[in-house]
Amino acid sequence: RFYFGMYLGLFAVTLFFFVGTLFLKKRVEKNAALIQTMAFFYSLLMALWSTVITLYDQRASENVSVYVITILTLAVLVNLKPWQAVMIFGGCQFLLLLLFTTFQRQVVDNRGNYLNTTVMTLLAIVVATTLYYNKRASFKDRQLLIAQKEEIVSTNAKLQELANTDSLSGLNNRRFMDALLPVVWNNCMKGKNELGIAMFDIDHFKEYNDRFGHATGDRCIQAIAQALLLETESNPSFVIRYGGEEFLIIMPFSEEREMIQLAESVLHRVRGLSVTTADGRITTSVSISGGMCSQVPTSDLTWEEWIRRADKALYRAKNNGRD
Ligand code: GH3
Ligand code: MG
Ligand code: MG
Repeated sequence: RFYFGMYLGLFAVTLFFFVGTLFLKKRVEKNAALIQTMAFFYSLLMALWSTVITLYDQRASENVSVYVITILTLAVLVNLKPWQAVMIFGGCQFLLLLLFTTFQRQVVDNRGNYLNTTVMTLLAIVVATTLYYNKRASFKDRQLLIAQKEEIVSTNAKLQELANTDSLSGLNNRRFMDALLPVVWNNCMKGKNELGIAMFDIDHFKEYNDRFGHATGDRCIQAIAQALLLETESNPSFVIRYGGEEFLIIMPFSEEREMIQLAESVLHRVRGLSVTTADGRITTSVSISGGMCSQVPTSDLTWEEWIRRADKALYRAKNNGRD
């Protein structure tokens, strides 16, 4: 009856911890500490259980195998911290040494039992400690790998952004455009949406550079880039530095009327820009010329050709008095 009760108790406790741990492991990150605590208490109960059985066994023989097998199994299978292993195994061993004779019905020579249980307890502590430090080291290695991977991913994202950005103006560059346009072109073709492009070029910029210096010319490019960004702020559009002093606005889902309005306000804003030279003088105002093309992409037209149409319109604007 005693053994039956003990094994029934063991079964109930094991079932409780097993189901509990399964449940907690659904959110392992959040419950990690609780799972570890449960493992500790389950090991403690198991070790105490094997100690009680072993002590009870002493009534019939000097057998200590239940205790030995149980603590070695716990040492190998459970992630016990060194102090936990010392506490559980050391505590049970202490109980055994203390109570062996109490349960024995006649006087026996216990030297074998003392030696065996002590050696096995020390072995269990050594095994648990070694496994604990090994697992901790490989866990840390994995954490390090994960951290390195995250760093590589974010560095790549930064590099990608840098590679797509023009360093002087901060606008998207031509490389970005080459990746963007095939996608936008196809999407608009599928959805039968109009796709608009406006190409702008600074007027007489060579003269401007000659007169005010290249550094002032650079600032002028930056000011115009900001003007373009401001004007397109509320549109789902892309502003690109296409070449030296040439810019593109690409506007999916546009209508010709909207494009013209946008271009007019860009021209207006650029005329009003004030750019200063290195010694603080305000330069003469600049103007830009623009050419536009807005249409639904079709399969008999390429996006390269569509850009050329805007370029031709720009050329006409240059020949018709600029600005
Ligand atoms: P047009 O009105 O016909 O466009 O005349 P333009 O002088 O603007 O045209 P042109 O193509 O003869 O000259 C373009 C000038 O733009 C020459 C070049 O030095 C200048 N430029 C191109 N890129 C940059 C840049 O990044 N910084 C500066 N400061 N100047 C640039
Ligand atoms: Mg040009
Ligand atoms: Mg020019």
